[in-house]
Amino acid sequence: MNRAVAHARRNVPFYRRIWKEAGVDPGRVRRIEDLALLPVIDPETARDAARNGELLAAGTPADIEAFPSGGSTGAALRVPRGEVEARLWRAGGVRIQFEHGFHWRDRTVQFGRRPGPPHPLQRFGIAATDWISGEAPLAEQVACLAASRPHFVFGHVAVLRRAGLGLLEHNVRLPPPKAVFALGEVLDDESRATIREGFGSGPVDVYGMSETGFIGWQCGRRRDLHVNADCIFTEILRDGVAAAPGEIGRVVVTTLRARTMPLLRFDTGDLARAGCGPCDCGRQLPTMGRVEGRARDAVTAYDGRVVTQRAVLDRLAGTLKMGEYRIRRTSEHRFVLEATSRAFANSAGPRDARRIVRSLFGEVELETEECKEFPARLKTHAFVDERGEAQ
Ligand SMILES: [Zn+2]
Repeated sequence: MNRAVAHARRNVPFYRRIWKEAGVDPGRVRRIEDLALLPVIDPETARDAARNGELLAAGTPADIEAFPSGGSTGAALRVPRGEVEARLWRAGGVRIQFEHGFHWRDRTVQFGRRPGPPHPLQRFGIAATDWISGEAPLAEQVACLAASRPHFVFGHVAVLRRAGLGLLEHNVRLPPPKAVFALGEVLDDESRATIREGFGSGPVDVYGMSETGFIGWQCGRRRDLHVNADCIFTEILRDGVAAAPGEIGRVVVTTLRARTMPLLRFDTGDLARAGCGPCDCGRQLPTMGRVEGRARDAVTAYDGRVVTQRAVLDRLAGTLKMGEYRIRRTSEHRFVLEATSRAFANSAGPRDARRIVRSLFGEVELETEECKEFPARLKTHAFVDERGEAQ
């Protein structure tokens, strides 16, 4: 811990500046509990510092490999990483596979674009990996899956959900994979059910971002996430202090091994529940609860409750079909529901959707707009808060 802090103090201008401004003495940070002495960095500040080079360690070669960010905030932050760091980063993915019974002869299907630069969360450097483009026609994706008969599958939630539906529609039953790893956004209940049905194996929730690598993953128990504690320290903060078990707070991470662009108390912009103690699988790694969505998409309801993206999606499951709708909050009391003709589960759907939205947000207007279809994107963005966004 103190090595990560000492390195940042010695080599990274950004930390020297903000710690001085905050009047803290990083020399006092010796143990992990002392981290709370350091200020939390919000995503905007980190992004600005990354862009102007202030967040880079002194002496970083100009031609270092940079990974475009696909983080939860969707920001175009390029994260440079040295060779050793890149290897550690990939090892994080292999480790998750090992935790789920990986054998070197196993085949992996990786949803992503190839050739072209693969998404950083999709680089693992292991053999026997078949790449399937999530943008290919569904019939082609299904044929590739049937030919590959993978033991492991990695993909974004939205891509896996579409593939799961494709497998069901084409009546293709795969031998159940050892694990289907779902990443990139909130794994809502409906997507979870569709993936389980289509692939024959319940998805494993994986949380990570290219700024930090893999942060947490579910074990076979499919409960709280185990944190990759040898590389990452995670805090779930509510009003600046540690949230109680099960409580929702902001995910703040500290990279323990990153040296090129270390992130110390970096606010990811995501919300998650605090872990509820050790998992009954016996692993000693610390836990965190499941990710609830982006903080900027969460709202405080009229009665003071925090309503997260996950809460909205899970409440609408059964009424609206994921991937066929999008709700945009355009002002304090106005919501727009964009829905395709396939969005509603039955004829009472529009009325039910209105009732649910009002039960979550109070007496708000909900305008329904019909749309043809949503493009096959990497992330679903079924609920977005557009207040305060430039039009
Ligand atoms: Zn466990």
